[in-house]
Amino acid sequence: MGSTSLDDVKQALRQVEDPIFKKPIGALGTLLEARLDGDRVHARIRVSSPSEEVRKAIESGVEAAVRPLGVEFVELDLEVSVPTREATSEDPIPDVRNVILVMSGKGGVGKSTVATNLALALRRLGTRVGLLDADIYGPSLPTMLGIQGHPTSKDGKRIQPLQRFGIKLMSIGFLLEDPRQAVVWRGPMLHGALQQFVSDVDWGGLDYLIIDSPPGTGDVALTLAQKLRLTGAIVVTTPQEVALQDVYKSVSMCRKLNIPILGIVENMSYFTDTAGVKHDLFGSGGGEKIAEYAEAPLFGQVPIDTQVREWGDQGTPIVQAAPASPAGSAFSQIADALAERVAKEHFERSGSESAPEGEGPKRLRILR
Ligand code: ADP
Repeated sequence: MGSTSLDDVKQALRQVEDPIFKKPIGALGTLLEARLDGDRVHARIRVSSPSEEVRKAIESGVEAAVRPLGVEFVELDLEVSVPTREATSEDPIPDVRNVILVMSGKGGVGKSTVATNLALALRRLGTRVGLLDADIYGPSLPTMLGIQGHPTSKDGKRIQPLQRFGIKLMSIGFLLEDPRQAVVWRGPMLHGALQQFVSDVDWGGLDYLIIDSPPGTGDVALTLAQKLRLTGAIVVTTPQEVALQDVYKSVSMCRKLNIPILGIVENMSYFTDTAGVKHDLFGSGGGEKIAEYAEAPLFGQVPIDTQVREWGDQGTPIVQAAPASPAGSAFSQIADALAERVAKEHFERSGSESAPEGEGPKRLRILR
């Protein structure tokens, strides 16, 4: 590459567009470092989403920018800094950057499956994730993640969450003698337990805390909204008409509580038979309709796959057990879409032109 100077390289890199903020990284101040070492360029860039899409966009932007300069090798270091919600001085978990509620109108649509797989997919992208199972009617997280046990406390004040697959976990199921036992807790009991789960659990620093809330009722959303600023909610639905009526209720409740709806996930969308033919077993179009009503994106559609249930029953969610399966990759794509939506939502809310500061997980990628 001969005469190319570091200044030329920096000049070219500054023009690379950040896919979330739609602005050159030079203007955003997110080109953290650029070095030239023989025919090798080393660049360190900060991004606000860990998603694969963002990584690919930056990678190809960087390649396109330096190629005309005759650069042979690029070593790209992406520093992921997930933006944080606004925490007031009263916030019990200010180090938890995002609190995301997973809701559904009724039970059995796969809400817990979605919550668990999304949490794992976000973890697999390198972020710090917690999962709180607040579904008192059927706490399924202990089964789905194959973990039992009672959380302990080191100092008699803070409860230590359990851990599995690198995720911090807390479930109402951990407090029951038999986690499969369905409990009917009255409002005040749930309220108290939730307060404890949020305030007294030692969550530490997290990029995302995913909360699996009980179907239908707004109790969890209400309690949480009083206590802290939620990043937003994800609504899980099936394509079926009947299920939809209940989902509309979840959407209007979020509106009343001023909780942004980040996106919709349509689960059990279709079934692909052994000949590869797709069947809409439960009708079609539900996810799209809800997305339109909620004025939120449809994050994705997850097929019906017996492996989802089988792996769930064995305590290893499909995203972990078979990430390349159709359902596994659907969950990964939805996690990507969620991470991007969260970053954009912060950007739109704050109106800020600069990317957020802060420590985040790092990943290294070598190009070419
Ligand atoms: P909810 O939390 O809405 O009550 P669950 O997540 O517990 O629903 O799911 C209900 C049942 O459906 C579980 O046995 C689960 O394994 C199964 N299930 C969920 N999603 C799928 C899917 N996409 N394909 C096959 N089975 C699924």
